[in-house]
Amino acid sequence: DLGIDHTWTIKTVQTPNGTIIQSGKNSISGMYFLNALSKTFMKLTIPAMALSLLIGFLVTHRWTKPIRTLIRTVKEIIETGELSKRVAVDKQNSEIGELIELFNKMLRRNQSLIFGMHESLNNVAHDLRTPMTRFKNSAEYAIQSSDPEACREALADCMEESDMIITMLNTLMNVAEAETGAMQLNKKRVDISDAIRKVADIYEFIAEEESIEITLKLKDGIKIEADPSRFHQIIANLVDNAIKYSANGGKISIESTIKNSNVVISVKDNGIGISESEQKRIFERLFRGDRSRTKHGLGLGLSFVKAIAHAHNGTVNVLSEVNKGSTFFITLPFS
Ligand code: ADP
Repeated sequence: DLGIDHTWTIKTVQTPNGTIIQSGKNSISGMYFLNALSKTFMKLTIPAMALSLLIGFLVTHRWTKPIRTLIRTVKEIIETGELSKRVAVDKQNSEIGELIELFNKMLRRNQSLIFGMHESLNNVAHDLRTPMTRFKNSAEYAIQSSDPEACREALADCMEESDMIITMLNTLMNVAEAETGAMQLNKKRVDISDAIRKVADIYEFIAEEESIEITLKLKDGIKIEADPSRFHQIIANLVDNAIKYSANGGKISIESTIKNSNVVISVKDNGIGISESEQKRIFERLFRGDRSRTKHGLGLGLSFVKAIAHAHNGTVNVLSEVNKGSTFFITLPFS
């Protein structure tokens, strides 16, 4: 008895002459072998596993560091409402780095959108205050006045002010609708030359009064898919501005051409021009140039043009020089 649980494997064979040969093998030698093997296994494998776990932990910890930074920044933004925060980008970690760069880009856009909304709201509040005050003053005067004629005049002023407020609010709504894609566009095939001629006809008399000459250089036969009344409005806005910001005897030229697969419509004047710093802002809602304050306007015309051009997948640009004139370009795709 070896003191170890073991088994015997016995094999019995009978030779042709009748001798029986029996051989046996016990399991102890195998168990010794297994025992030695498992000891070696324990000695080598356990430290190897521990080492690989440690390396795995360190690698994962390093890889997930940008994600933890991202989570921390998101929490800080939620808690403080501080939109100027950004996540530091780890360049070595390309995919996570790209994700963080995209996240930062989204934060930048959100910040500028919210900033724009604040500014618009301030501008609207500021621009509404003046006509509302005039409206109130005229109404007060009408109430106090005993002269029916003066009363009628004051009420007419009230009507004028309220018209202006309604126009301003409607235009603001239109710009917002066009910008967010909520505006319903009734697209039809629009003949560009026909539409421009109609606008030029309407403005001919106003231009004549100021001795301003309007010339047309139109490429006939260009048709695009557009909302006819919106298209009419944006050309009218540009022509209206060209007249408004030109001196008596000025010259306005409206042209249409095809460039690549786009239609380019330009409205050129030799008026007061726009400084470089103002050119960056003229398409913002409610922005009015310093030298245009003497003219009537709400500062909404160009933001409307831009929003409508974008709603038609197009763009609007300006080239201008102070005291030389301005050219506005509307670029619209054929389809
Ligand atoms: P508004 O004309 O009511 O002020 P717009 O949005 O149409 O508003 O134009 C914004 C500003 O851009 C104007 O206040 C003016 O300073 C400038 N601007 C637009 N068109 C012209 C132009 N043709 N020539 C010179 N300045 C212009």
